[in-house]
Amino acid sequence: MPVLDYHSNEQNLSERDKKHLWHPLTQHKISPEMLAIEKAKGAKLYDEAGKEYIDGIASWYTCMYGHCKEVITSRVAAQMQKLDQVVFSGFTHRPAVELSEALMKILPANQQKLFFNDNGSTATEIGIKMALQYHHNQGNDRKVMLAFEDGFHGDTFGAMSVSGLSVYNGAFEDHFIEVVRIPTPNGTNNSAVIGKLKKLISENKLAGFIYEPLVQGAAAMKMHDAKGLEEILNICKQHEIICVADEVMTGFGKTGKYFASDYLETQPDIVCMSKALTAGLLPMGLTSCTQAVYDAFYSDELAKGLFHGHTYSANPLACTAALVGIELLTSKDIQEDIQRVIKSHQDFNLRIKDHPKVTNQRQLGVIYAFDLDVKMERYGNLRNELFKHFMDSGIFLRPLGNTIYILAPFVISNAELDKIYNSIEEVLEKFGN
Ligand SMILES: *Cc1c(COP(=O)(O)O)cnc(C)c1O
Repeated sequence: MPVLDYHSNEQNLSERDKKHLWHPLTQHKISPEMLAIEKAKGAKLYDEAGKEYIDGIASWYTCMYGHCKEVITSRVAAQMQKLDQVVFSGFTHRPAVELSEALMKILPANQQKLFFNDNGSTATEIGIKMALQYHHNQGNDRKVMLAFEDGFHGDTFGAMSVSGLSVYNGAFEDHFIEVVRIPTPNGTNNSAVIGKLKKLISENKLAGFIYEPLVQGAAAMKMHDAKGLEEILNICKQHEIICVADEVMTGFGKTGKYFASDYLETQPDIVCMSKALTAGLLPMGLTSCTQAVYDAFYSDELAKGLFHGHTYSANPLACTAALVGIELLTSKDIQEDIQRVIKSHQDFNLRIKDHPKVTNQRQLGVIYAFDLDVKMERYGNLRNELFKHFMDSGIFLRPLGNTIYILAPFVISNAELDKIYNSIEEVLEKFGN
């Protein structure tokens, strides 16, 4: 019998999964079994039993151009035949160079240099390291990061440190880097936020400010005031506090512009990217920065360089997927799709806006969210019940608390959108006060 005789196993994948696999963000003792997805196409996922689900969150905002899109998979397959992987220290290659040139066309105009990493957490980790070392290299004693209270920047140590305090991080808090926090500006509290910012600047040696521009994904698609953010960034810039835009969630067209930072006049010093960067095909992160940030590392002294590197930095396949992703994003078809989805969400919002159980509706680009105004105590776990309702109707949405949000692939069809909307309207009927 061959050593790896896994095909002869009679049990289904969900059953076999339980034996050896440890899933992310999961307390296995109280979690249902994992649903096995066998294939995906466009905006749809298909499970082991053949049931289909509309991917209403684009598999965590990654595959915005649709799953298994031929133009992407074929280009990556061709690249795979030619150059699969090579060390990116001392070597370079066509996919990385072409990707850098393409990104420069869509990033905020002041971005000049790109540093590769592996995922969103390491993209922000590099952003933090760049901000800290920018000051260190110049002999500035600045070690404290500034962040928004309820931000999310990832799960590695630096990224955890700057994220809003979470009950899940208790085991690690003693090891965090130093961080001070301000609330997000909501238009009515702006002067209080600015007051707190100025106080923190005077009391701390701030190196950088990391923020999710305009939309905080993990905080349940919480949106904040662009004018307020602009004011914060301007004050940070006046004090040489490096502004690190975490565009891991907001990047690549989801807000209606290429980057959420494009809604602001003040451009970030550093931009962190991942998620839709590779069109949902392969894991990769990127941190871009201005010439001024780069120049603070440019020196005859070895130690002033950025001594960080991942084995798979700038993997040629991931770079190729990213390049095709940008070609799609900038295409007329996808831009039309983005406008179509924006309009569709706006129409849906008008349909439900007067419903007594709908509050805090918010939309930026194709990101649409609202809060369900029901008495939470009436439900054992409202979020889980909502999730189950959607999955039973063949829709993959991932409510956060009482927030229901849609962030579907740009290519989702109108019929698929209607199916999501109808299922949400069923929720409004089914979940009483
Ligand atoms: C998802 C996310 C991250 C972390 O990215 P991973 O690839 O999951 O490590 C960081 N910042 C933001 C804003 C995110 O949405």
